[in-house]
Amino acid sequence: MKLSKYYLPTLKETPTDAELESHKLMLKAGMIRKVTAGVYSYLPLGFKVLKKVEEIVREEMNRAGAQEIKLPIIQPAKLWQESGRWGDFGPEMFKLSDRKENLFALGPTHEEIITDLVRNELNSYKDLPLTLYQINDKFRDEIRPRHGVMRSREFLMKDAYSFHTSQESLDETYQDMYDAYGRVFDRLGLDWVAVEAPSGLMGGGYSQEFMALADEGAEEIVVCSKCDYASNVEIAKYQTSSNEEKTDLKKTKEVATPGKETIDAVSNYLDIPSWKIVKTFIYRTDEGLVAALVGGDDDLEEMKLINHLGTPKVEMVSTESEIKEITGADFGSIGPVGLDIPIYADLDIKSLTNFTVGANKTGYHLKNVNWEKDIPNAKFINLRKVKRGDRCHNCGTKLDFHRSIEVGQLFQLGKKYSDSLEGKYQDQQGELNSYIMGCYGIGISRLVPAIIQQNYDNQGIKWTNSVTPFSMALIVLDADVSKTRKLGNKLYKGLNKRGYDVLLDDRSSSPGVKFNDADLIGIPVKIIIGPRGLDEGIIEVETRTGEKSEIGIDSGKTETILDELEQAISKPEAGTNTPV
Ligand SMILES: [Zn+2]
Repeated sequence: MKLSKYYLPTLKETPTDAELESHKLMLKAGMIRKVTAGVYSYLPLGFKVLKKVEEIVREEMNRAGAQEIKLPIIQPAKLWQESGRWGDFGPEMFKLSDRKENLFALGPTHEEIITDLVRNELNSYKDLPLTLYQINDKFRDEIRPRHGVMRSREFLMKDAYSFHTSQESLDETYQDMYDAYGRVFDRLGLDWVAVEAPSGLMGGGYSQEFMALADEGAEEIVVCSKCDYASNVEIAKYQTSSNEEKTDLKKTKEVATPGKETIDAVSNYLDIPSWKIVKTFIYRTDEGLVAALVGGDDDLEEMKLINHLGTPKVEMVSTESEIKEITGADFGSIGPVGLDIPIYADLDIKSLTNFTVGANKTGYHLKNVNWEKDIPNAKFINLRKVKRGDRCHNCGTKLDFHRSIEVGQLFQLGKKYSDSLEGKYQDQQGELNSYIMGCYGIGISRLVPAIIQQNYDNQGIKWTNSVTPFSMALIVLDADVSKTRKLGNKLYKGLNKRGYDVLLDDRSSSPGVKFNDADLIGIPVKIIIGPRGLDEGIIEVETRTGEKSEIGIDSGKTETILDELEQAISKPEAGTNTPV
């Protein structure tokens, strides 16, 4: 590609409306442009990288035995009503209607469509297992789209779906997908980790997320440095601790705590440690109201409650009037004693004795509360957020916390969709059974900024060899001088012929502009043809990591120069990943 003809509007200034480095660099390098909040156009350079990532994903899916299809973006509401998810997605789903006022959604995901596709024809155990995938645009009306294409409302995803007659068969395909994902992220040169994850709106059972490690990533994960345990913080397990020493159970006492509405205020006023005060939250769930209790120094993790209840979402009761109606007290004084609703308490507070809770009477607390005597119906589950200092539940090692970007997820869906959408096959005995399903996503458009987040410096992007938009930049200085231009064109043709994807900078710009642009857009190698070098009989080769070498051109033979160039650029560099 000749840069003089290439649509590459790089920016001199760093865009001020971008926070994340990958977002700034994608704008600055002329890869993307914003259309409206969370909606972007890809320019030639950005689209080229996106396509390269897509192709690596496609190759590994095919290698894992999945078959590519293409499903529609426009999805009829009736399928979503059939699965019971039309309401679950809420305002995140883009909805539209046709001229006859039939309702549709712009696909945020495709479980309904794929189950509908196969349910009429995939009817015998002989046809299973089967894995289908597509690479297609998805639409989600993010409440806060941000960081460019990292969290956008229209994005490119690879989604695969598998159908099975048994859990063992699902486990096998799940492992194949896990391995394929590992190969994809390795080939992209990512520093990644797979973590246990909540299944969220997809429902079903076991799920893992693939996270690209990045200091500015939106997701926090915990990793054990000793065993292989790693988890999304939302469902992280840890060794439960016990603060309490064995003491005699005292008599429960109501005490006035006028105007003391926070744990700290009550702790100071009653002169008791904050960990001996239990916090109460009331949630509205599919099964009605429930109370959730955690220790005074801990935070509640809603996802753990959601997972335990097996419901897609829960909603905390958060208005004064509602809380008063339910408990009889204002927020600062609510507690579990006497509440006639299911009570879930965090495992860490199970060993507490003589603790303090709100009295369900505004301005009062109860001291010396004990589980069996006062809250006999409490059920203990892991409910609090994981925190610094927590230890691995497997091996007791202190857990490490990392920031990361979610780039893929695997789900064991079980029969959630095949049951609700009646996707059934006939087994060997002639009985009808629902398929056991899995689904597997990779955020292709998110992978591009994720790769950048792990590979940039002050000058710009540093592409890994597997996704770089061009293998080298051939920079011709003083391109108007016929000597340099001639050699530039010769080498350009020769390198193209030898299979290299070369960006020829034949613009009449200054050397500084040319070097800056090549570094900004992240090309791994610069070949520099300048008049001074030609006088000395050399051309220069410089890698994006700063290693320089020279090639003699005195032979005057293009093929000899090309041979030497090939040799110079094929030297393996530290830190770059060659495709498998
Ligand atoms: Zn461990």
